[in-house]
Amino acid sequence: MSSIDRSQSVGGTRTYEVRTYGCQMNVHDSERLAGLLEDAGYVRAPEGADAADVVVFNTCAVRENADNKLYGNLGHLAPKKAARPGMQIAVGGCLAQKDRDTIVKKAPWVDVVFGTHNIGKLPVLLERARVQEEAQVEIAESLEAFPSTLPTRRESAYAAWVSISVGCNNTCTFCIVPALRGKEKDRRPGDILAEIETLVAEGVSEITLLGQNVNAYGSDIGDREAFSKLLRACGKIEGLERVRFTSPHPRDFTDDVIAAMAETPNVMPQLHMPLQSGSDTVLKAMRRSYRQERYLGIIEKVRAAIPHAAISTDIIVGFPGETDEDFEQTLHVVREARFAQAFTFQYSKRPGTPAAEMDGQIPKKVVQERYERLVALQEEISWEENKKQVGRTLELMVAEGEGRKDDSTHRLSGRAPDNRLVHFTKPDQEVRPGDVVTVEITYAAPHHLLAEGPVLDVRRTRAGDAWEKRTAEKAGKPAQPAGVLLGLPKIGVPEPLPVATSGCGCD
Ligand code: SF4
Repeated sequence: MSSIDRSQSVGGTRTYEVRTYGCQMNVHDSERLAGLLEDAGYVRAPEGADAADVVVFNTCAVRENADNKLYGNLGHLAPKKAARPGMQIAVGGCLAQKDRDTIVKKAPWVDVVFGTHNIGKLPVLLERARVQEEAQVEIAESLEAFPSTLPTRRESAYAAWVSISVGCNNTCTFCIVPALRGKEKDRRPGDILAEIETLVAEGVSEITLLGQNVNAYGSDIGDREAFSKLLRACGKIEGLERVRFTSPHPRDFTDDVIAAMAETPNVMPQLHMPLQSGSDTVLKAMRRSYRQERYLGIIEKVRAAIPHAAISTDIIVGFPGETDEDFEQTLHVVREARFAQAFTFQYSKRPGTPAAEMDGQIPKKVVQERYERLVALQEEISWEENKKQVGRTLELMVAEGEGRKDDSTHRLSGRAPDNRLVHFTKPDQEVRPGDVVTVEITYAAPHHLLAEGPVLDVRRTRAGDAWEKRTAEKAGKPAQPAGVLLGLPKIGVPEPLPVATSGCGCD
């Protein structure tokens, strides 16, 4: 059960309270914070309520003892929060802008710290804190026009997420996104491309375009082909080697997107497209507007245009009302589509979603049995598809932290263009995360590939330089000249694909 599931609420909806300190500017900012939270599906806590599900402190740094008062107030809330799983505390405003990490150090029960320039991020940061179960501290140095989900604190020197839209105009009945994040808001193409160019100048060579419904991009700015145009524009950015995106919706997967993928060399041959169910009846009940035939039709077109594309998906098993025949239809699509990988989920109720109230909830035992059959089938297909890679020569972008056994096996790990994980023999020559190696695949397992022979080629990249520079900075050593300037405070690496979720990035 998630923390939201356990929290107190009004009619199943999370409540909020904003406590404001300081000047008129803060009072006005608090109005905007309240509006943002209501847009995201929260309701104002009733007057006199003990504590809301989300308590936001909009702080002031000018008043005397402002920090002592803040920590005193936070201290009062600590036992309430401890007694109430799911409660969240956020601190914003001038004091947060000023004190940043200090707040979570002094009051580790705080969930979110945000600044004066990124108040639009509050709902996203609350959600991220809930999902990741750790405090989110995010302070922007200048005003953000777009309420981006993009962390300003980049996790990787060589790969980055770029948010292109937030929210979703669909109403899938199992998904809480429309309630939490509201209608789709598209970021302006020029802003997106400028951000990518900045990232590339800093050494990033792989980006993943992100949106709850990424390929619906354009509906908010009145251009139905905006997403394919964006992919093609990414293709013109010098130094950007790999472009991925997640998660697209089959409804919006138009032919111009397939053409742009096929014709733009740095858009990788990979597609993660949620199926959710292979049954038309269940898709209808899920309020997913495509049907089995349309889904398989897209797969067919993608395979015709991009023969080596690795296609992955999300599937929910045991949606309310799913019959044995419906489930057989899902297995049918899995056999036909031959996914490289599928993220499979057993349906569970999400309070606040229409599906939670539906008749025909499936007994756990039945769901489990179907789930096991689906996983067994998909494992078989994943393995067969991986075996087709044996003998191929592939360029890998060296990854950091993706091979748990690399040290003991004297290997390194990297991602193929289609995002398959490959473990390869460590060459004598130094290679760094972000560099590119060429290897021949010698062995396939269901979830990874091996290249057991020698590395055929090593290409040192600006991304590798960026990684080296950042690593040296972190270790406090003078960096080797890297040829790029970085201002990136934290090392680490995001997965090349976000963890797939039940829905389009919405779990
Ligand atoms: S599952 Fe995806 S498309 Fe459906 S409502 Fe959620 S975010 Fe939107």
